[in-house]
Amino acid sequence: MANPFMTLPNINFSEKSTALNAKKVYDDGPKTPNRKIFPFWEYLNLSAATQQLVFIPGEYESRIEPGKIYPWLEFYKHKMTYTDSTGKQIFKNITCSAGSDKHHKKPCVGCHYYESNKPAPYTKKENRTPNPWGQKLSTIFCVGHLAWYKRVMRMKDGKPVVYADIPQYNEVLCPAGEEGGPDTFFGKLVKIELGNNHYKNWVEIASQLYWLCDGCGMGIVTKKVYCRNCGADLIDPKEINKLSRPQQEDILKKIQTCACGHVDMPVEDLACGYDVEGKVFKRKANRPCPLGDNPPQRMHIYNCVVSLNKTGAKTDSKLNLVDKASFNPDSDISWVTPYESIGMPVVEIIDSIIARNGGKLYDINKDIEVVSEEQQAQELKVPNPYAAPSDIPKQPPISQVPVTGGGFQKLGVIFNN
Ligand SMILES: [Zn+2]
Ligand SMILES: [Zn+2]
Ligand SMILES: [Zn+2]
Repeated sequence: MANPFMTLPNINFSEKSTALNAKKVYDDGPKTPNRKIFPFWEYLNLSAATQQLVFIPGEYESRIEPGKIYPWLEFYKHKMTYTDSTGKQIFKNITCSAGSDKHHKKPCVGCHYYESNKPAPYTKKENRTPNPWGQKLSTIFCVGHLAWYKRVMRMKDGKPVVYADIPQYNEVLCPAGEEGGPDTFFGKLVKIELGNNHYKNWVEIASQLYWLCDGCGMGIVTKKVYCRNCGADLIDPKEINKLSRPQQEDILKKIQTCACGHVDMPVEDLACGYDVEGKVFKRKANRPCPLGDNPPQRMHIYNCVVSLNKTGAKTDSKLNLVDKASFNPDSDISWVTPYESIGMPVVEIIDSIIARNGGKLYDINKDIEVVSEEQQAQELKVPNPYAAPSDIPKQPPISQVPVTGGGFQKLGVIFNN
């Protein structure tokens, strides 16, 4: 898929914030003895309750476009839901193992069933049965969650859990009223997984921020786009405002070749003080941009605090930008601690969050390891189509999987993202 951020100018994070000087050191993954457990406790599920978040860029190779490095990890998965013998809905998913070469797909149980459940050619739309096996885009982000957490001892059968003589703790969101109390701390490194629709929302939010000034929080417009070498206009300044924002972004985020022969990212002159659409100049005379004589600066989703929530249910659910705040203490929209006891600028909080994780970011790759076909089939509760020939089921299950206790239950697609 074409990634809208592919052409984002390489922002030097260290220029703006030491905290986000992407600590490209990753931890060793969940410390779980003997067996691999998906570390769900490291994930934050967004809900209707607004959360203050700082997206922290890592460097993760795309599983979709090999060789491309993004600040988040993107990959395909197959999601399944089935009903077990007690009537309980079980959600399962596996990382797609087909690889990125569409013409030479590697074995993948999900893709196999997708192919074998495709309707015959020329099947009328109304006669097609839903095929729940398709690949679904998923993205995982490393995020600092600006909220109170509490350390609670992990218990099993009424006893504290101890590994290698070390008592184990869970870090859970602090119950209301206990903020700042014993065993509490502010801010935690978490991961957020966004499916296709929510990822699109995230990209829209990133674009909204791109058109806001980090100093005054007002709308920004491009006045001039020119060559770094000779200063010649790369677009006629009179034409810039006739272009839509996506068209402008397209120009601004791509390397351009000037008539002088210089090949570089274009330089832009910005003006702030506009409405969010950049149409009407709104600045009040007595409220100049706090960046003063310095040129306006674009906000950036990896360089500010965003307050996000998720509204709506299932396929209609949506990520919303409720508020944004700058790291710059001089900004009109600078981040203000909601708790007086935290007398730290936000970049130091992010540093402390990463320090709590041993000074390392999560290695997200560990969470989406590709497992064997046999294990994929087990996870999805379907026969393994890659098993020895005698074991291959004659009839691949069509939208149905066997469940314990006999009989078949209908499969559905999960739309929780
Ligand atoms: Zn697959
Ligand atoms: Zn401004
Ligand atoms: Zn030039």
